[in-house]
Amino acid sequence: MPGTWETKLDTPTFKGSLSLNTGLFIDGKWVDPVEGGKIDVVNPATGKVITSVAVGTGKDVDIAVEAAKKAFKSKWGFKVPGTERGRLLNKLADLIEANLDELAALESLNVGKPFTMSKMVDVKASIQVLRYYAGWADKIHGKTIETNENKFAYTRHEPYGVVGQIIPWNFPLTMLSWKIAPAVATGNCCVLKPSEITPLTALKVAGMINEAGFPPGVINIVNGYGITVGAAISAHPDIRKVAFTGSTIVGRKIQEASAKSNLKVVSLELGGKSPNVIFDDADFEQAVKWAALGIYANMGQICTAGSRIFVQEGIYDKFLAAFTQASKALQSATGDPFAATTQHGPQVSQVQFDRIMGYLDSARKDGATIHIGGERHGNEGYFIQPTIVTDCKPDMKIVREEVFGPVAAIIKFKTEEEAIEMANDTNYGLAAAVFTENNSRAVRVAHALEAGTTWVNCYNSSEIQTPFGGYKQSGFGRELGEYALETYTQVKAVHVNIGLKL
Ligand code: NAD
Repeated sequence: MPGTWETKLDTPTFKGSLSLNTGLFIDGKWVDPVEGGKIDVVNPATGKVITSVAVGTGKDVDIAVEAAKKAFKSKWGFKVPGTERGRLLNKLADLIEANLDELAALESLNVGKPFTMSKMVDVKASIQVLRYYAGWADKIHGKTIETNENKFAYTRHEPYGVVGQIIPWNFPLTMLSWKIAPAVATGNCCVLKPSEITPLTALKVAGMINEAGFPPGVINIVNGYGITVGAAISAHPDIRKVAFTGSTIVGRKIQEASAKSNLKVVSLELGGKSPNVIFDDADFEQAVKWAALGIYANMGQICTAGSRIFVQEGIYDKFLAAFTQASKALQSATGDPFAATTQHGPQVSQVQFDRIMGYLDSARKDGATIHIGGERHGNEGYFIQPTIVTDCKPDMKIVREEVFGPVAAIIKFKTEEEAIEMANDTNYGLAAAVFTENNSRAVRVAHALEAGTTWVNCYNSSEIQTPFGGYKQSGFGRELGEYALETYTQVKAVHVNIGLKL
């Protein structure tokens, strides 16, 4: 019998019970993995085990895909009107809202995010995304195309059928909602794999899917490792589309697996090394605040993190001083994710902690300066101080590779041309920003930066209505906004003969 887990928390920000099923959620039922695997889930603030949950293998993916195929043919896809799909998504959003505090607590416990951030950002964003796509579910229209007097054609935007979805650990609940909401709204059935290190909120939401009223098999959640469950999803012959968010290295493997299996359609949201370009004429105080949010939000574990901050020479020294102050202030708000004053928590895992420390070692060896931070914070858990690196050269690893931690490289520039050149000197292209009070320059630079998202006078300020995705090796395909509907539908042209005779 699949297990359950329950505990009580008594913290300054959350007091109450947490409970969930620890099995796999397939065909509307909680099941044990065929091969019976388990994984410990760790609290990154302490390094201690919270609980252990089931991990599946390719055999469980096969069962989930069968369930999803069956559901698509008999109970979903074309069988259910868009209004009904929207109603169920809205119901799921309501259930998440009714459990907002518990979900936020689970996210903070498992990922280390400050509780207020989990609640106000992660869980709220998930609710909004579900409601946004609930609204789209009955507005998926094709076009009528006039051809000649004897014939016309129309297009249908049809679901793929079974889609596979693989998500990372940095925004577990938000990523789940970005994936399932547009997929289900457009009539697909899902087999979703959470990150094996942060499965708790996905399991909690899985427990709401039946109550929301989704037919069995429409949404299946198969927790497991990337090399087993993730690889099985990417190679499965009956999955027609796979949507992935994670590292560029794994994105490449997913594309390869798709090419070698059934040429499934792939959308990839991958890593970044995003530039934030701040000109002398920027609103200085605002630029400092946004730049700090840009790199330090979620402990730097954001794919759009503004990790290369280019500052024009006229304000460079003043900016470095102010950014140092902002980093110190964050350092003093670092600690227990459930404390009311905490704004900066731990990195998600020992692996990520070691990876970030490795990048800082390489920066030191390459001749860069750790201007502030760069050390472990506290004695337990995976906390790293907000860190500024200066004296960087373009070929250093700290400038070229994604650190995925609270580490800002601050780099001086002279001219607009030089800033654009340096900003675009990267294999990535997820996001970028420009800070200036000169409107012409703002638009010129926003257009010249090679990235799927460019912000003007703000950073990490995303909206669910706007498309999100990468240029270059940050991936392809778009999530959010109306664009995600294209990601989850294929277009059929129907030609109708109304008088053409042979
Ligand atoms: P990751 O690529 O290691 O893992 C992501 C997911 O892929 C996990 O569920 C993992 O189990 C799975 N996976 C691992 N190996 C696999 C394989 N061989 N086949 C199939 N699936 C496999 O990334 P992560 O460490 O979880 O997350 C951090 C990375 O994700 C960063 O590079 C970050 O930039 C990126 N990210 C991108 C976005 C975006 O929207 N562009 C958002 C969040 C995170």
